[in-house]
Amino acid sequence: MGAITGQQFLHRLRQSPPTLYIDGARVDDPTTHPATRNMCLSLAGLYDLQHQPELRDLLTFEEEGERYAMSYLVPRTREDLARIGEAHRVRANYALGFLGRAPDYMNANVMAAGMGADYFSACEASQASVPGRDFAANMRRYFEHVRNHDLCLTHALTNPQVNRARLASELPDPFIALGVVEETEGGVIVRGARMMATLPIADEILVFPSTVLKENADKSRYAMGFALPTNTPGLSFQCREPFDTGRDPEDHPLGSRFDEQDAFVIFDDVLVPWERVFLLYDVELANKAYAGTDAVLHMAYQVVNLKVAKTEAFLGTAQAIVDAIGSGGFQHVQSKVAEIIVMLEIMKALEVAAVANAQPNAYGVMTPARGPLDAARNYYPQVYARLPELLQLLGASGIIMMPGKADREGPLGPQISRYLQAGNASAEERLKLFRLAWDMSMSSFGGRQSLYEKFFFGDPVRMHSALYEVYDKAPYVERIQAFLNRSAQPAGVAADD
Ligand SMILES: Cc1cc2nc3c(=O)[nH]c(=O)nc-3n(C[C@H](O)[C@H](O)[C@H](O)COP(=O)(O)OP(=O)(O)OC[C@H]3O[C@@H](n4cnc5c(N)ncnc54)[C@H](O)[C@@H]3O)c2cc1C
Repeated sequence: MGAITGQQFLHRLRQSPPTLYIDGARVDDPTTHPATRNMCLSLAGLYDLQHQPELRDLLTFEEEGERYAMSYLVPRTREDLARIGEAHRVRANYALGFLGRAPDYMNANVMAAGMGADYFSACEASQASVPGRDFAANMRRYFEHVRNHDLCLTHALTNPQVNRARLASELPDPFIALGVVEETEGGVIVRGARMMATLPIADEILVFPSTVLKENADKSRYAMGFALPTNTPGLSFQCREPFDTGRDPEDHPLGSRFDEQDAFVIFDDVLVPWERVFLLYDVELANKAYAGTDAVLHMAYQVVNLKVAKTEAFLGTAQAIVDAIGSGGFQHVQSKVAEIIVMLEIMKALEVAAVANAQPNAYGVMTPARGPLDAARNYYPQVYARLPELLQLLGASGIIMMPGKADREGPLGPQISRYLQAGNASAEERLKLFRLAWDMSMSSFGGRQSLYEKFFFGDPVRMHSALYEVYDKAPYVERIQAFLNRSAQPAGVAADD
């Protein structure tokens, strides 16, 4: 099948809707439910982009007579990586970088895991001689399945936040955290919950172990990796409060279109067929799965491209506000815009460095360099909060005094047009711009973005620790030691010269 269209995506969702619950009720059809339909249309639009004649070669590639989304391309050269990065940025721009989990993210995950599938053959529970129980073959086939059908995936890694001081096995009920109940001839039965899956409006869910699994036992029921359709019996997604409140896109330019949703995932004795199992019981293999297949780097590469697009959107919006209210001559205003420029250029440089220093990994996949990507994913969560703050500081009361579309069409419309015009634009244009700034920085949609940026790639505290652990600091320590031990006088110069 290859790269699908928006219509094909919507048709598939209608045929096999994920088991979503919103505001206490089951969502029968996400393509028509008021809280999800606009997001479904936005995803459809994203799929349609890859068929636009001017974008086709940028967003898809051809292999053996079939066209696939660029995010499934197995990069063999740095040029391939650069092509993938450009496609990530073009797709990110579609939602100004505000769709955190557009399908490209998980596509990068399954591409890397599929190519590094041999990693999973080390799992003791894998049986290469039994059809369906060869975990490496399962992973390889799963990548092809996702790519060939251009599936939209969600994923869930972390256990419910019941008591972080206890291991999963020490909680009041051993099946609060998702665990294996038993094996059957057809597969494994799993029970429990996962804390968060963004974009539950998806065809399938990939469940992988959190990289912080701390179970001591060699054989832990909590160590697992598998994939399932989102309408599998026993699997439910409890969605958070929707941020698409049905307002006109002019009033909520982002929330009305790009509420990707986040869901709590419940597994009520769900059967995972053997052919969908990639990893079982092996804590060490589970904890290193993302690093061992380099999936984390390909996902981080998608992320750095996405964040470049998002920072560009902040810069464009900030400058448009400055132009609209004529504040560009003030030095502190220039300085605030310059802060965004610095962030943008740092992220762009890290993206370029990741490609320039890429190397083929053990599976022959050209893999972006870890150093710049680790820097990007530790840096951006620290600085992101400043971006909405800068919009607030630049827009001031303009970001709250924003009569909506209905107000502009109401009895006070003429006064609104007169008093709320911009220095360089009509009131309508000005209010649309400020509503965008508000949705980026202050609305419930914008507030969730701030939380998302802090945590979406993991706990920033533990990410810093991980960086500290893996980064090779020895050469720099040695240089300092050498400096300290160096004679005070240059060689060959006598003390009394
Ligand atoms: C908007 C949003 C979307 C997300 N989307 C997804 C998704 O699509 N898929 C997915 O799998 N996950 C997703 N996540 C979850 C994300 O991976 C987690 O938020 C992140 O890993 C942190 O885990 P936690 O939220 O359970 O926090 P916790 O681990 O409960 O941490 C809470 C607090 O306790 C501290 N703490 C807890 N344990 C330790 C420790 N051992 N050492 C030091 N400090 C500790 C933390 O630093 C933090 O301050 C999303 C999160 C958010 C906020």
